[in-house]
Amino acid sequence: MPTAKAFATPSAIEPLGPLQIERREVGPHDVRIEIAFCGVCHSDIHQVRNEWGGSIYPMVPGHEIVGRITAVGAHVKGFKAGDLAGVGCMVDSCRTCASCKRDLEQFCEKGAAFTYNGTEMDRKTPTFGGYSDSVVVDEAFVLHVSEKLDLAAAAPLLCAGITTYSPLRHWNTKKGDKVGVVGLGGLGHMAVKLAAAMGAEVTMLSTSKSKEADARRLGAHHFGLTSDEATFKQLAGRFDLIIDTISAPHDYNKYLGLLRVEGAMVLLGVPPEPTPVAAHALIGGRKTLSGSLIGGIKETQEMLDFCAEHGIVSDIELIPVQQVNEAYTRMMKGDVRYRFVLDMKTL
Ligand code: NAP
Ligand code: ZN
Ligand code: ZN
Repeated sequence: MPTAKAFATPSAIEPLGPLQIERREVGPHDVRIEIAFCGVCHSDIHQVRNEWGGSIYPMVPGHEIVGRITAVGAHVKGFKAGDLAGVGCMVDSCRTCASCKRDLEQFCEKGAAFTYNGTEMDRKTPTFGGYSDSVVVDEAFVLHVSEKLDLAAAAPLLCAGITTYSPLRHWNTKKGDKVGVVGLGGLGHMAVKLAAAMGAEVTMLSTSKSKEADARRLGAHHFGLTSDEATFKQLAGRFDLIIDTISAPHDYNKYLGLLRVEGAMVLLGVPPEPTPVAAHALIGGRKTLSGSLIGGIKETQEMLDFCAEHGIVSDIELIPVQQVNEAYTRMMKGDVRYRFVLDMKTL
């Protein structure tokens, strides 16, 4: 079997380092992608450190993958060698269940094949992610990336982009809506850019005063410092929609108080521990507390096309693969502006 270079973690407590892995031969419906860049998502840290349980090692993380196609199978219709391509959080699903038929492969009833820390649909072959120089994926799970966008900065669209675009669309964000974005990291900064591009009046809700100027540059109209209790009084009852991207445990009840009557808060962040929610935080005002997981393949393409049309990419810090352990440490401190992207030619 063809081999590939990768960066992997052998266990939950060791640093990531080089590993040689196998990638399958290009099948009739597959494409092979030479990976140029891969974004670093906080979900990589949760899984590398086994914070959600059930992690599989060795693990090659990475689900914000962009590069160029170097080979296509005999039956591939949508791509040719030389095309730019992207791969996000999924590489396959059953394709026949009710969710898959609704273009919601992320909710596949059989369980989608996630890009890493999972298995192919045979439930045996482990999947390895994008901290690697190549990947082989069925074309049904490969996205077209516009030549107009800066390629490295487009990588985070494959997870941070779709994860924030999907709930904004689901909750019908439109011109003039008041949207609050909680947490200014990888997801948060994409939520600000996308909500602003959809015409919303965006407020950044952050623990970091030092990020205020950036929040405004990214498109936020207002900034609320959440370490100051007065912010929760000033903004009470304000928002139609709150997008919560915080990666660590925090009090949802406080943020629910910022919603208008019948407003909705969507959880995107996945803190390892649960947080209690008081019924009265929802009942008074018929509010909705919701969640959202990435987005389907069709919607991911729609998001990439929207970003190409509006010239939207991530604000990134491009680093050599060897600095990924340091990047994780910085992300744990909220020190990210606003997505680390690994340059795969350094592998
Ligand atoms: P990130 O870049 O590390 O940003 C997280 C931000 O949350 C930080 O920059 C910080 O923003 C804030 N924060 C961190 N710790 C905090 C704390 N203790 N209290 C309050 N605020 C805190 O992470 P990310 O890549 O955007 O991912 C965020 C979360 O979304 C992770 O849990 C990740 O696993 C999850 N995720 C979910 C999906 C999905 O499909 N639902 C997809 C991708 C990622 P401030 O400095 O502005 O306060
Ligand atoms: Zn992610
Ligand atoms: Zn399915």
